[in-house]
Amino acid sequence: MKVTPDVLIPRPETEELVNWIISENKGKELRIMDIGTGSGCIALALAKNLPLAKVSAIDISEKALKIANMNAVRNNIEADFFRVDLLDPSSDLKGEYDIIVSNPPYVRDSEKRFMQYNVLHYEPHRALFVPDDNPLLFYKAIADSGNRSLMKNGCIYCEINETLSDETASVFQSRKYTLMALRKDINGKPRMLKAVKNHG
Ligand code: GLN
Repeated sequence: MKVTPDVLIPRPETEELVNWIISENKGKELRIMDIGTGSGCIALALAKNLPLAKVSAIDISEKALKIANMNAVRNNIEADFFRVDLLDPSSDLKGEYDIIVSNPPYVRDSEKRFMQYNVLHYEPHRALFVPDDNPLLFYKAIADSGNRSLMKNGCIYCEINETLSDETASVFQSRKYTLMALRKDINGKPRMLKAVKNHG
């Protein structure tokens, strides 16, 4: 994978999220949407390991989409990348999906002081930080988009802020999803969530 300062460097936690999705969905013909794809690492890992799946991915950043496309070509993996601003209420994910996956920005501005120099100086702040007064804005937008474009019984898998796991689960529950699981990462921190859309 190629990365530049326009995208996040893939993290081990995100690899765990991808492994979880692969283990639960082997051999299925699925349409998958990766929201905020950045380097494309989630979308491309899923497309490679779930060969029957059709993977699409969006990002707000044209520069990130360029990197993601480059990574698809370099690794000879097929995925469809296009630009969408998720926070635009009229945003359209262009289709229906069985799975939505996302590692959205979730680090609160006030948590910046705990972050390492290399993260603060070499990664895009737009991909990391959220305002303290509305830290779950991306999860709200993901849940709302899922209500428009997930199939019945479709799932959302997300990486989450370990200090906001219950609040993040509530975002999905209050939008009619069923919380299926909150999972811990290798460091024992609640880091991944799966929610299912049982309604039509
Ligand atoms: N876990 C990442 C970090 O601590 C943040 C990733 C994200 O905001 N989605 O650098």
